Amino acid sequence: MKSIDKTAYCGIYCPDCIHYQNEYSKLAGALKNHLLEIGLDKYAKTKSPFGAQFNKYDEFENVLTALAETKCDKPCRTGGGCSGVPCEIMDCCLSKDYEGCWECSDVDGCDKFTFLEPRCGQMPKNNIHKIKKLGLDDGIEQRDNFYIWQK
Ligand code: SF4
Ligand code: SF4
Repeated sequence: MKSIDKTAYCGIYCPDCIHYQNEYSKLAGALKNHLLEIGLDKYAKTKSPFGAQFNKYDEFENVLTALAETKCDKPCRTGGGCSGVPCEIMDCCLSKDYEGCWECSDVDGCDKFTFLEPRCGQMPKNNIHKIKKLGLDDGIEQRDNFYIWQK
């Protein structure tokens, strides 16, 4: 697969993403099915002084479902967005017929990246600037770390 296929419109390199071809979704899906099969949901949701640690089972189920459903078998560009859902950045690039935001002259002023910033900081925009300067292959080769805790 070429660099462009693995590089999202926003400058993210999908193989670095925690959701990309992950193992946890399969494990979470299997655990979810197993717990339903044995009726652990009914056990946990029946209030009792015995087993009170299950009182927040609904929240656990929501997280387990999120884990099961956030796998990306394909990268953004060929998979149709994050877990198959297009974001505002992808829509914007497609509407302008851009290969990616590196074709845009207003990257620094663009506010569509805010939802990525808590976990990724300025990584997407930094990658875009590297692609602008070095071209796609070399720019993505020199990409930033994906998550802020990987610095
Ligand atoms: S499409 Fe989004 S969620 Fe999926 S691997 Fe790429 S960046 Fe991650
Ligand atoms: S305005 Fe430019 S930088 Fe912002 S999402 Fe659209 S193409 Fe990307």
